[in-house]
Amino acid sequence: MVEIPELLPWHSTAWAALTKSFDRIAHATLLTGSPGVGKFQFASRLAMALLCDAAKSQPCGECRGCHLFAAATHPDLHVITSELMLNSIAPSMLAYSHRYLDDERTRSKRKTVRPNILISQVRALIEQANTASHISKNKVFLIAPIDAMTDSASNSLLKVLEEPAQDNFFILITENVQILLPTIASRCQTLHLSDPDANQSRQWLSVQGLRDQEINSIIASQKSPLLGLRMFRNNVLKNSEKLNELVITALKSANNFDMLSLVNLAMEAGENESLLTLQQLIVGLVKSNLTSNSQPMYGNSNFESIAESLDVCKMLLLYDHIGKVRQEMRDGSLDRKLTVEDVLLAFENIGRVG
Ligand SMILES: [Zn+2]
Repeated sequence: MVEIPELLPWHSTAWAALTKSFDRIAHATLLTGSPGVGKFQFASRLAMALLCDAAKSQPCGECRGCHLFAAATHPDLHVITSELMLNSIAPSMLAYSHRYLDDERTRSKRKTVRPNILISQVRALIEQANTASHISKNKVFLIAPIDAMTDSASNSLLKVLEEPAQDNFFILITENVQILLPTIASRCQTLHLSDPDANQSRQWLSVQGLRDQEINSIIASQKSPLLGLRMFRNNVLKNSEKLNELVITALKSANNFDMLSLVNLAMEAGENESLLTLQQLIVGLVKSNLTSNSQPMYGNSNFESIAESLDVCKMLLLYDHIGKVRQEMRDGSLDRKLTVEDVLLAFENIGRVG
């Protein structure tokens, strides 16, 4: 069974309303809602259901259509977006959206990022709309954000929306419904996705594995839980990278560990994440030591010589030790800060000498 885009708890009413009579679903749906409410996620789930061979209101996750959808290779899903949007699009949709954009080389030569959806993209879409579907009963055209279309692109799209073929389904996404051509809006069934309330946000974030303190700070910042989670994870990533950097530097400079900074950083990144990061660092060091291959993820030019100066056996023992304390920490039997400090101290002793 492949992964199906999650139905977010605050989408369930809208989903039920839309899919109540799934066999008579509108040919054009306009999804609106504030930034971070999860419009793309909702749209992905809907697209997957429309392309599922089971033709039910939920994707089955098992048929050929669902498998192709999840592998980002379904030939009947067409995602049209702007170059500007590429940074914020769901990763699962990224591969699809490239089909309707200039390739990366052309884009980087041009040096400007186009904010609009162009008429050439809509023309390519229309060509697909007029062609028979490849493997599914339906074809799905997901356009986001619809308000990024140039006037000529909008007018061109209008023509296919007026008389959509039986097997064509359009999902249009916007957060600015007021700047949309009214003629486009009038040809769609509009579905507004409401923001989650604090309880829904809290519950969802807790299911994602965040701690109360982190959840409180996301809710206090009034960010949507999706954006909050993404920012939180990016931050964790940044801190993990920094932790790696500091540990590598400390290993290089004759074990000159600034323990206070290291522990603080590790705590900020989250104890478990930090311990995991340190385990991965050991794997990188051991690999480099044994094969003399550089480990591209650690952008330190001295990485190889540092790795060579360390004792593989001691590193492997430390790796095991970290695995054990992670387990014990999950069981709640260890003081988190002391444990992290203890592990970082152990890094001082993985050199060959001593
Ligand atoms: Zn399916």
